[in-house]
Amino acid sequence: MAYTLSRWSLDDLYPGFNSPELESAFDQVEEQITSFEGVRGKLTPEIRSEQFLEIVRASEDTRRTILKLDAFAGLAFAADTQDQVAQSLQSRVQQFIADITNRTLFFSLWWKDLDEANAARLLEGSGDYRYYLEEMRHFKPHTLSEPEEKVVNLKDVTGSSALITLYDSITNRYVFKLKVDGKVQELTRAQLMNQVYSSDPGTRAKAYQEQFRVYAADGPILGQMYQTRVRDWYNENISLRKFKTPNSARNLMNDIPDEAVDALLEVARRNAGVFQRFFKLKARQLGVRKIRRYDIYAPVAGSTKQYSFDQAAQMVLDSFNSFMPEFGTLAQRVLDQNHLDSEIRKGKRGGAFCASIVPEMTPYVLVNYQGSAREVATLAHELGHAIHAMLASHHTTFTFHSSLPLAETASTFGEMMLIDKMLSSESDPDVRRDILFRQVDDSYATIGRQAFFAMFERKAHDMILRNASVDEISAMYFENLKEQFRDSLRLSEEFKWEWVAIPHFYHTPFYVYAYSFGKLLVLSLYKQYKAEGDGFKPKYHKILSAGGSEAPARILGEAGIDIRSAAFWQGGFDVIREQVEELERL
Ligand SMILES: [Zn+2]
Repeated sequence: MAYTLSRWSLDDLYPGFNSPELESAFDQVEEQITSFEGVRGKLTPEIRSEQFLEIVRASEDTRRTILKLDAFAGLAFAADTQDQVAQSLQSRVQQFIADITNRTLFFSLWWKDLDEANAARLLEGSGDYRYYLEEMRHFKPHTLSEPEEKVVNLKDVTGSSALITLYDSITNRYVFKLKVDGKVQELTRAQLMNQVYSSDPGTRAKAYQEQFRVYAADGPILGQMYQTRVRDWYNENISLRKFKTPNSARNLMNDIPDEAVDALLEVARRNAGVFQRFFKLKARQLGVRKIRRYDIYAPVAGSTKQYSFDQAAQMVLDSFNSFMPEFGTLAQRVLDQNHLDSEIRKGKRGGAFCASIVPEMTPYVLVNYQGSAREVATLAHELGHAIHAMLASHHTTFTFHSSLPLAETASTFGEMMLIDKMLSSESDPDVRRDILFRQVDDSYATIGRQAFFAMFERKAHDMILRNASVDEISAMYFENLKEQFRDSLRLSEEFKWEWVAIPHFYHTPFYVYAYSFGKLLVLSLYKQYKAEGDGFKPKYHKILSAGGSEAPARILGEAGIDIRSAAFWQGGFDVIREQVEELERL
């Protein structure tokens, strides 16, 4: 059977917005919460281990329903961001979650406050809940009183969460105008940004200029929203919760030691030259003295090879299958169960993502497939995420989801397997060269670019707290770009507005290092795979199956990886340097 572009079905969650199942889910949670409130009196330091476990299980049950409600609303909204019914369901769910979070807050507060001896006793019998419970206690020094926590939760719904939704609403309705094939077309950002991979230099430049024309027009407002977000982050995490630095709050959420992130960013800064060397090589390939910033993703061979969706799906499944049949079977489940939204539609969210909701449910994947080799790789990437979640489905709802820094492992590894597969069956030298160049393009986008984003973010938070204006932040961003590129390319001024166009800075402050982390980690793992062959596979399978059931440093430590060491991160950059050297010889 041939695979075709499709819209996903959310029936495995709920049959529809007005379905009795959806309404009764709200009622069910309401009932569970009421009964959960009844255990409050039973929470004493001497509570029996079995009774404690029962309470944790009950909270897992409730969480499962909430996750499904939240996913249904969120996915319906992603499928059509202009759908007002989806949008209002999303608001309803968010309000509902905030309310019940508040009503059940007493449990985590009690748990965090419990004395060491009794906590150790209860952890002993907690099975797969253990890491989840341990992690909660990490936040003990940063937790406020119950009424204070309640106020923070409630005010977030209409405060910073609302601000972020507003940022999305404003930026998702932008219309970009670009002349394509002689006609001016109205494009979404995803369609516009596809043009930066065009083989025509004029089109690449115009795509970027149009993007920044639109964002710069709202620059002062988007910048103001960012300043507000940063101050809110500071007020909550530093003033109230007493974290040492703004980024250490995120690092604790990811359970990654601050020193590991610092080591990674320092190594990335030292290795900026690898990508500069690559950009100079690209200039020679393109026959120019120096490339412009517009050209960093320019295809060197001008290959415009297109893949039908069926070809794409088959290639991706084949590459997973040849690594390990289990991987192929799991990925195929996403397609067979109609959990993949692949077609292009007006109002549909741009980009791509994978949502894994509860352990036993096949994850949902969204892509905007238009047929390029890059989009085939994106498909492999998102299905890699899905495989990761499914391999960890024997864990609890609290522990199956891989923690953030490991979240990009299976996805990136999946992309690399696909690229190997594409190269092995491709004889056209132009297409091969194109694929190899794109590998380094992609390493730049995921490692170099994101690491410098992370450095920008640290500085931006610092400056905003010292009352920097939006223009001053833009100027600092421009300096960051200059350090990143040096003399390897020509940088034009409108790029100073790039930072207001990066949703991660608004959504999840200090997240972006996770991309560099994931990709460098995978480069090292892939190198091991090439060296060890089949012997590597069980080790890799074990890393993925662990999901989020242990600290990332520990999961990786068991595979012989020390994330605090600069040498480990340097190993990832060595792989990129070798790729660049290979390209220089081509
Ligand atoms: Zn990803």
